[in-house]
Amino acid sequence: MPIILGCIADDFTGATDLANTLVKNGMRVVQVNGVPGSASAKDLGDADAVVVALKSRTCPVHEAVSDSLAALAWLKVVGAKQFFFKYCSTFDSTDIGNIGPVSDALLDALHADFAIACPAFPTTGRTIYKGYLFVGDVLLSESSLKDHPLTPMRDPNLVRVLSRQTDELVGLVDLNIVRHGYERVRTAFEALKKGGNRYAIVDALDDADLGVIGRAVADHPLVTGGSGIALGLPENYRRRGLLGAATPPRLPEVDGPTIVMAGSCSQATRTQVARARKRWPSHQIDPLKLSDAAVAARTLADEILRDIEAGPQVVYSTADPDTVQKVQSELGRNRAGDTVERFFGHLAANLRDGGVRRFVVAGGETSGAVVTALGVRAMRIGPEIDPGVPWTESLTLGATDEAPLALALKSGNFGGEDFFEKALGMLDGGDD
Ligand code: ADP
Repeated sequence: MPIILGCIADDFTGATDLANTLVKNGMRVVQVNGVPGSASAKDLGDADAVVVALKSRTCPVHEAVSDSLAALAWLKVVGAKQFFFKYCSTFDSTDIGNIGPVSDALLDALHADFAIACPAFPTTGRTIYKGYLFVGDVLLSESSLKDHPLTPMRDPNLVRVLSRQTDELVGLVDLNIVRHGYERVRTAFEALKKGGNRYAIVDALDDADLGVIGRAVADHPLVTGGSGIALGLPENYRRRGLLGAATPPRLPEVDGPTIVMAGSCSQATRTQVARARKRWPSHQIDPLKLSDAAVAARTLADEILRDIEAGPQVVYSTADPDTVQKVQSELGRNRAGDTVERFFGHLAANLRDGGVRRFVVAGGETSGAVVTALGVRAMRIGPEIDPGVPWTESLTLGATDEAPLALALKSGNFGGEDFFEKALGMLDGGDD
């Protein structure tokens, strides 16, 4: 099956977010972690869209550009017909990049002369009006993003922000035009192109606006934006007969023991862990006792594996802010984080070697560490557990004969209080 849409995401959880949005709109989606060397379209099963997850949001510009071009080249090989560059809905970037330089390079490589830049994602409160990005009720520059440690966003005007990152001209298609429908939007694109613009920031306040914009970019080789703008794309493919009627996503078909691992200390995860501890055997991790993370992981894995056939178990380093503060003042923030992440990576690999097949992981960085340690190269995206968090099934991309794993990877603050039960209940038809 040829791939219709080829996506390049500038971070891991952003890739999953985009994949999940496309699945909810009826596409079959595979997420690939990094650019696969040799994988071909047939390794992607029946996917309609593929999302390559990079780590290019804050890396040096030349790396972001070369990784993105490598992803594009591979997506062309697997037959993608339209391309999508996904970045954060808060346009996380600096004056030197990486959104502008990557977009320039992708357009050049596609011999294309124009693309939109639309990070709007109204369901998560990100809207654009007159080119100004709002986060909830406040301008981007007044939101907590102004203090982001790596990409502080202090200018809410996206025309200005993108203009500083590229030598190309950046125009605006404002809400008055969007509200007149996709044909008017297309006319506005043509006018901007005639005026020498290579980019258009496009206003959007709700999902209907995103639908209009999605239709207007049906012929664009490259679309750039947040996950929201992907809402409108599947319908274009259906209109053209490229995509069949929406099929419900399949759950992972993976039997075997289950582990829940929580390395997030976010509020939602703390509530979820408190509930899970009452239900399943649990192991609390104290980062101060992880002087050798590999040995500690091996020891705990042996203990867990003795009884894992009896039912799920929970391992958590989740702690309240005071405890985290204490750990950080003793170890340093980065060392504390790295140590706990390395521990969970080793633990996941040991448990997999011992027969564990289903992994539920809480925490964005923690998930990244676990997926890397497990060597998961790609995942087929399944149904959503809670908003923004799908079940996934690992794919080996034809490289080995490893058994597939079921993976639910959530960023810390996602999911309701019963997230873990809900996730496991879905795999077992409600009986966990
Ligand atoms: P979230 O998605 O909630 O941000 P992450 O996994 O991305 O979760 O980040 C949590 C970070 O906190 C990780 O680097 C993790 O290793 C670290 N961490 C987890 N538990 C503790 C703890 N008890 N003390 C200090 N740091 C911790």
